[in-house]
Amino acid sequence: MNDCLFCKIVSGDMPSAKVYEDDQVLAFHDIDKKAPVHVLIVPKKHITSVAGASDADLDICTHIMRTAKKLAADFKLTDGFRIVVNTGKDGGQTVDHLHFHLLGGRSLTWPPG
Ligand code: AMP
Ligand code: ZN
Repeated sequence: MNDCLFCKIVSGDMPSAKVYEDDQVLAFHDIDKKAPVHVLIVPKKHITSVAGASDADLDICTHIMRTAKKLAADFKLTDGFRIVVNTGKDGGQTVDHLHFHLLGGRSLTWPPG
């Protein structure tokens, strides 16, 4: 997926402010943060979205949740946090590489717009 922004970040062809990496996932600060802590967690494998993922692809979501929990603790989000996975046009997805937003550090409103 040569033209995929997050694949380029995973490969190092595009810079990012990395906060965590292992063999399966990369986490980095969102460039346009919506909260004091706004981290994106992405699988290293190109998966377009929840809707575009195979059942096997979705196994990565458990590891991403585990990573989000660890990062929330690292960033001391002791009062809570939000994990968001925008999917498709109506879901507000703008980058077609599966990613989980981890947001925290302020009181977040509900429902989102
Ligand atoms: P979504 O709208 O759910 O697809 O989220 C895509 C997110 O990627 C947005 O919050 C953007 O601010 C973020 N983003 C776009 N380009 C970059 C980049 N080069 N580095 C970090 N975050 C980015
Ligand atoms: Zn990709």
